[in-house]
Amino acid sequence: MTGIIRPSRPRQPERPVRQENLRSLNLELVFRNILAAGHPVSRTELATITGLTRPTITRIAEELLAGQLITETGLTHNGRAGRPRVGLTLSEKGPAGLGLDIRADALAACVVDLTGTVRHLAFTPSTYAGRGAPDVLTRLAHMAHAAMEAMTADGLTVVTATLAVPGPVHAGIVQSAPELGWRNVDAGALLRSAMDHLDLAITVDNQANLAALGELYASDNTLDSFVYVSGGLGIGAGIVLDGQLMRGARGWSGELGHVTVYPDGKPCPCGSRGCLQTYASLPAILSDEPAPAGSTPDAAITGRAEAGSPTTIAALDTAGTTLGIALADMLNILDIDTVLLGGSFSLLASWLTANARAEIDQRVLSAAWAPITIRPALLGPDAAVIGAALTSIDQIRQHPTDWLARQPSRSRHAAPASPA
Ligand SMILES: [Zn+2]
Repeated sequence: MTGIIRPSRPRQPERPVRQENLRSLNLELVFRNILAAGHPVSRTELATITGLTRPTITRIAEELLAGQLITETGLTHNGRAGRPRVGLTLSEKGPAGLGLDIRADALAACVVDLTGTVRHLAFTPSTYAGRGAPDVLTRLAHMAHAAMEAMTADGLTVVTATLAVPGPVHAGIVQSAPELGWRNVDAGALLRSAMDHLDLAITVDNQANLAALGELYASDNTLDSFVYVSGGLGIGAGIVLDGQLMRGARGWSGELGHVTVYPDGKPCPCGSRGCLQTYASLPAILSDEPAPAGSTPDAAITGRAEAGSPTTIAALDTAGTTLGIALADMLNILDIDTVLLGGSFSLLASWLTANARAEIDQRVLSAAWAPITIRPALLGPDAAVIGAALTSIDQIRQHPTDWLARQPSRSRHAAPASPA
């Protein structure tokens, strides 16, 4: 699978402007304008947009070209009369970002290049619930090595990796991932160790958060505020408000699976009662009838629903209703008008949406003024692994000088800081 995903919205530099970092800031300014353009731009256009002199633009372009961050392409008109100019655009070689994901039924690896194009997507189907962290992370390390080798052949260098885990993460530590049986696991350190301490920056983040970021990138920033609901063995939510991911004070935001829907309801492994997870997770929908060997939970549910199984259809109805009840509270509090059904819910959306919508329309006050959108995630069940890869490459997009500092060719182009 390949797809074009637009770069994220450029951020403003946050460091104070001093003489010694002016040169880096100018380089980042030029790079971000090429990134934001979405089409090839000429050196002359860049000089006009940034206010930098033409010689400064020429020097910066040389440095970006040598570092394989940009490439020259065709000719571009700037909308005015005159001869066309050589365009500068993002490179499809050079740095790449790796994403890794632990799903209910598979491990996944994805690589994207600077343009946001998916260049590699691989899965190892299996059930990892209950397996120890070293076992799971060693298998992921093998997939990461395979992805990096494949990309080297394409002229890409993976320098950053982001691991998606189904649980809250704070300061790099997976606090709790009950589906995996993990508690206080330093997954980044274990993965780094399993990869023989390769020169690779590794970050760990919550699966629903990374999936929400993946949807934000994939929407070309047309989505501004939404809730991404990740359905699987558990249920998590990634909340994006005004274009920013809400992580919470300690990384525990979006624990939608443990929102109470019936105070005296079924006991939940968390110690409470009547949590959404006990009605709408995949094990709850399977209703004590596990998926047969060789089948995934969502495939088993889909098959039974399509065959008209009354038990499965009733379980899906309950899942949709309870999902709507839990989401209504969240939407009332946050004033969000879009819900994306992700993870396994993206595959079950046609059975869940009607009941969820009925509850939301009845319970969310703003729904009487403007309807709430409920739809499957754009990236389907791949949102988290693609979001993880895009989060990795975004580190290079935001700080291209970090990548250039790694390049042996930089010394040839380095020049003393100049106000230019
Ligand atoms: Zn609970």
